[in-house]
Amino acid sequence: MIMKYKRLLVWFRNDLRLHDHAALFSAVEKAEEVIPVYCFDPRQFDSLSIGQKKTAGFRAQFLLESVLNLQDNLKSLGSNLIISSGLPENVIPILAKKYKVDAVYFTEEVTSEEKSVEAALEHSLYKDRIGTEAFWQSTLFHIDDLPFPVSQTPEVFTQFRKECEKLSKVRKTYPQPKKINTPDLSNDLHFKLPSWMQVEKVTDDRAAIKFEGGESAGMHRLKTYFWERDQLKIYKETRNGLLGEDYSSKFSAWLSLGCLSPRYIYEEVKLYEKERKKNQSTYWLIFELIWRDYFRFIAKKHGNNVFKLSGIKNYVDNWVRNEKLFQKWAEGNTGIPFIDANMRELNATGFMSNRGRQNVASFLVNDLNIDWRWGAEYFESLLIDYDVCSNWGNWMYVAGVGNDPRENRYFNILKQANNYDRKGAYIRHWIPELAEIPGFDIHQPFDLSTKELKEFGVSLGSTYPHPMVKLPKSFL
Ligand SMILES: Cc1cc2nc3c(=O)[nH]c(=O)nc-3n(C[C@H](O)[C@H](O)[C@H](O)COP(=O)(O)OP(=O)(O)OC[C@H]3O[C@@H](n4cnc5c(N)ncnc54)[C@H](O)[C@@H]3O)c2cc1C
Repeated sequence: MIMKYKRLLVWFRNDLRLHDHAALFSAVEKAEEVIPVYCFDPRQFDSLSIGQKKTAGFRAQFLLESVLNLQDNLKSLGSNLIISSGLPENVIPILAKKYKVDAVYFTEEVTSEEKSVEAALEHSLYKDRIGTEAFWQSTLFHIDDLPFPVSQTPEVFTQFRKECEKLSKVRKTYPQPKKINTPDLSNDLHFKLPSWMQVEKVTDDRAAIKFEGGESAGMHRLKTYFWERDQLKIYKETRNGLLGEDYSSKFSAWLSLGCLSPRYIYEEVKLYEKERKKNQSTYWLIFELIWRDYFRFIAKKHGNNVFKLSGIKNYVDNWVRNEKLFQKWAEGNTGIPFIDANMRELNATGFMSNRGRQNVASFLVNDLNIDWRWGAEYFESLLIDYDVCSNWGNWMYVAGVGNDPRENRYFNILKQANNYDRKGAYIRHWIPELAEIPGFDIHQPFDLSTKELKEFGVSLGSTYPHPMVKLPKSFL
């Protein structure tokens, strides 16, 4: 094979893996030597408008683990990873010049902050006559295979999905390189965690899953969930669950940092369908991955509007910005057990089920009428699986400023609690001070008499808050 380049630098971002990695695969094919680099960006740890850090401790820990795992996996192929910190648009050109690389390869992102880093990097490298190549690789359907230009992405999910399913194909995954030639990097392998990056490991035993960052742990989770525990064939029935490791795949955190590739998951689903079982559940996991694609392409189509109050619908409700009410929601002290349990789970573990996310988001925007972007920012800070497009897209959707053709996205909290936690096990798990209340009554302590409350060891306003709002009970 004729090598085109002497040396290429691969800048890793939200693509922390070796399997199905277009940029890495291409670099290994085209160059005699490859220099893998990761750079922690301080802007990812700045404060958000609500005062929280953009990346709180749990996700920072998951990110660190993912980067270190990538380094280990690269080492096993004879390579290594330079781990650095600072602005990538400054750090990468310095390394590119130092190691005299011909070009820098990276995965392109879609939203403005990430795009401006790419632009600044390209500009800086261009001045030094170093080329760049951006690769698309975070979605199931490749952008070039969409049956429409991104600017014409259907506004409604069902239409998007149907057109993709009918007219596009999921590309095959790239094989993992067997060996990577890398020059001596020892002068640049002395990474020290920057002071602005505070990491924190989840220690709460009540966590649905103990997330561990990195491609190896992501692969292991897939193997466990699909193959060892054989859960995929019942995914559609269990996916709205609230408790435990296996009601849903829990792939999101690994997907968000690119430790798992959606196309790899797709291939494993196809294999499972061939070797074990093919049913609605196996399809449904792919269906959910298409939602993920949809939010990414919608974000690319609509640019910064996805972060605006009026969203992409250009609709403005009269939202309030009441810090006191917001704080109660954020801390899980609303006095509505189903909301509080979910928020306490998020605060203690960096994770919340999809059912929980929809309910707490609806409660914030519909019952409290608070600016939905505050909720989106809170999730951005705390979620281990934070993904800019999925998070802001879903929030827009719940807030009614997205593309939902169904007008009313109001979630009747008690009805939801009745459907998904009838016996109150989820509340008992997260709000021990209510644990003595039997059955469904645990969801509505505010309806119990003083005598009953006393019997169950609850004192409203003291051991558990009074409800912030009166919830509709129309379903009962
Ligand atoms: C208000 C709100 C905010 C959200 N923020 C995020 C976020 O920051 N990051 C994130 O990955 N997901 C987000 N979601 C989507 C969804 O809740 C999570 O992807 C899911 O709960 C993760 O658990 P899982 O991997 O076990 O999901 P599973 O049910 O096993 O689904 C498999 C995969 O499909 C994708 N998926 C499933 N549902 C959705 C959805 N509604 N939108 C986009 N992708 C989906 C995810 O990649 C997920 O890992 C949000 C949902 C809501 C309502």
